[in-house]
Amino acid sequence: MKIYVYETREDESAYFEQIKKRLPVELIQSQEVPSIETAAYAKGCMGVTTLGQGQITSDILDIWHQIGIKYLSVRTIGYNNIDVNYAKKVGIRVCHSNYPPDGVADFTVMLMLMCLRNYKQALWRGQVNDFSLNGLKGRQMKDLTIGIIGTGKIGYTVLKNLTGFGAKLLAYDLYPNEHTAQIAEYVDIDTLYQRCDVISLHTPLFDSTYHMINKKTLHQMKEGVIIINCARGELADNEALIAGIESGKIGALGLDVVEGEEGISHIDHRTNILSNNQMAYLRQFKNVIMTQHMAFYTDKAVESMVHYGVQGIVDMANGACETEI
Ligand code: NAD
Repeated sequence: MKIYVYETREDESAYFEQIKKRLPVELIQSQEVPSIETAAYAKGCMGVTTLGQGQITSDILDIWHQIGIKYLSVRTIGYNNIDVNYAKKVGIRVCHSNYPPDGVADFTVMLMLMCLRNYKQALWRGQVNDFSLNGLKGRQMKDLTIGIIGTGKIGYTVLKNLTGFGAKLLAYDLYPNEHTAQIAEYVDIDTLYQRCDVISLHTPLFDSTYHMINKKTLHQMKEGVIIINCARGELADNEALIAGIESGKIGALGLDVVEGEEGISHIDHRTNILSNNQMAYLRQFKNVIMTQHMAFYTDKAVESMVHYGVQGIVDMANGACETEI
């Protein structure tokens, strides 16, 4: 089976080589991002696999449908960039990737600690031999209440990681699960907003979760709340985040993902002007830590992403795929 691989990253190549030896596939690897202009490049293939840079709109899906694409896999866990309903309508089956939640969960706890200990400022100072302490006094986890929104694979693993720190742990999910209930207290969303010193987001991006952190929900939160987002940027309204940082309502932000990061994250923009001015503005605050959507980025995750990207298509073609959407 012939598969067109969009957005191939160099670090994926060795895993693609391995998978070619294991599965009856021919892979056409390119660094192109799916778009109306590049969609027809997949002509002659049965499947396409992508990462998350392109918006997979109905226009692109129409082209893929016309050239005979039957299967689409996204080599990420989140698939909010794909118009899945339209894909189903035109008969293109879609699956997403899967990898252990530990890498993102570790990263989340790291951002929490960096925010709590003002580590961005400490790093800045170290660069210029300023080893002063002034303004760097932090807080210890043990004294805090930490709230996790979304207790699926990653949210639960973050909670599990946090159990060793001695903080009070609150959780909210539309569908509470038993294993989380054993280590955290499920509360309603308003209670979580009102009681937590640190709030971390771990839901997918849906219409129902879009801008869940906004002016109104921020108003319910504690003064100086720390917000961590290692899920999807659009869960939080940039304007509300900026207002919250400017007013001091938000004590610190740990953002691995930012609204409107597409075309910026994972790309070297050193000689460019950033197209997302909210992102550029937010990133310069002393208490905003912004990373390049890299919480997932471990050896284990990249291997799994490539595996599911190709195996998912083969499985769909053979009948059933465990990660089909
Ligand atoms: P998951 O499907 O295991 O868990 C998601 C949880 O969110 C589920 O328990 C679900 O019930 C809950 N949920 C859905 N809608 C909700 C709502 N309105 N309110 C409260 N809870 C709600 O997913 P996961 O593997 O834990 O991943 C979560 C998200 O993290 C992914 O969708 C992806 O967007 C993001 N992610 C980011 C990175 C990164 O590198 N930064 C890496 C992997 C995943």
